[in-house]
Amino acid sequence: MSLSLLPKWRAKTVLEITPAFLKSQNIALLMMDFDNTIVPYTTNTPTQEVMQWLKDLKDAGVQLCVVSNSKKQRVPTFCKENGLDCITHSKKPFPKGIRQCLQKYNIDPKNAAIVGDQIFTDTLGGNGCKVTSILVQPIHNHNLPLKARYVLELPMRFISRNRRITK
Ligand SMILES: [Mg+2]
Repeated sequence: MSLSLLPKWRAKTVLEITPAFLKSQNIALLMMDFDNTIVPYTTNTPTQEVMQWLKDLKDAGVQLCVVSNSKKQRVPTFCKENGLDCITHSKKPFPKGIRQCLQKYNIDPKNAAIVGDQIFTDTLGGNGCKVTSILVQPIHNHNLPLKARYVLELPMRFISRNRRITK
C-alpha cells in the first residue's frame, strides 16, 4: 500500500484527460471526484466543455464512475440526470469507495485511474489502492477551509509540477 501524496499525473482540468491518453495508459475505468473536479461546490451545472468531455469518454468506451465523499443529494441527482454511475460516502482517502468501485467493475487497479482536485483525499486514496492518480486544479475554492487545504497541498503540487499530461 502506497501512502504517497504525489499524484502520478497532473492536469489543469479534466478536459486534458482524453480517451487517447487513457488508452495509452491502459486505463479502462475512470473514477471521478465530484466537487471542484467536475463542477464547483456552488453549482450543479457543468460547463458545456465538461458535458462534451463526459460524452467523448463514454463514446470511446471508457467506464465512468463518480466516487465522492459527499453525503449530499446533489451528487446522485447529478449522476442520474447525466447518466453516470455513482458511489457516494466513499470516505477517501480510505479504500472503501475506491475498492467498491473496482469490485463493481471487476477491474484491476492497474487498469483504473482516479481524478480529483484534492491530494489528501483523491490522490492519497488512489495511490493507496494502486489506482493511477490524476490531480487537477480545483475549479473554485470558494471558502477559507478549501483555500487553507490548498495551501497545505502546495509543496506536493510543486514537487509533482513536471508530471503534467499536457506539457
Ligand atoms: Mg473535490
